[in-house]
Amino acid sequence: MGSESDIERILFTESDIAKRVSDLATEISSDLRSSADAVVFVGVATGAFLFIADLVRRIHAPITIDFIRAESYGSGTESCGEVRISCDLKVDVTGKHVVLVEDIVDTGKTLSHLISYLKKKGVSSVSVCAFLDKPSRRKVEVKLVGSGKFYSGFECPDYFVVGYGMDYAELYRNLPYVGILKPEMYTK
Ligand code: 5GP
Ligand code: MG
Repeated sequence: MGSESDIERILFTESDIAKRVSDLATEISSDLRSSADAVVFVGVATGAFLFIADLVRRIHAPITIDFIRAESYGSGTESCGEVRISCDLKVDVTGKHVVLVEDIVDTGKTLSHLISYLKKKGVSSVSVCAFLDKPSRRKVEVKLVGSGKFYSGFECPDYFVVGYGMDYAELYRNLPYVGILKPEMYTK
C-alpha cells in the first residue's frame, strides 16, 4: 500500500493543477491589492501543505503564513464530524484578514469549525481557498466572515481521492497529481 499502482484513475494531472493554482493565485492577488494590511494565509495541516506552498509563491502581495491542525475523529474515508484543533496558530490573527487554505471541502464540518474558531479570535474577515470542493456532499453551509470570499480550485466528483497533499492512512500525500484510490485499498 502507498504506491502509484493503487490509483485507479487520475482526476487532475500535475499540469492541470499548476495551471489552476496559478489562475487562483492571480485572482487572489488582485483581490488582495485592495487590502492595505498583510493578509494571513492559514494552511490546514497536513493536507494543504503542497497546495499552500504552490499558491503562496505566486501571490504578489505582502502576506504572512501559518498552519493550524484540525482533526476529526473517525477513521477510513468518512469523518465523523467532531472536529478538534490539535495544533494552534503561532501568528496573532486578531483584527487580521485570514485566508484559510484547505485541501478539500466535503461535508463542510471541518471548515465551519475552523471558521468559528477564527471568528472567536476576533479576525476581520475569513476567506476560504479550497483546492477541491465536493458540493454534492455538503452537510453544513460554510459561512465566511466579513468581506471573506470562497475560492476553489476544482469541483471534485464524489470519489475518495488522494495525492497532492491528500492521504489515505497518511500515505499518498506525495503524489504530484490527484487520483481516485482503488476502492479495494480501503474496503479490505
Ligand atoms: P469535511 O469536514 O468537510 O467533511 O472534511 C474535510 C476533511 O476530510 C478534508 O480536510 C480532508 O482531510 C478529508 N477528506 C474529505 N474528502 C476527502 C477525500 O476524498 N480524500 C481525502 N484524502 N481526504 C478527504
Ligand atoms: Mg484536511
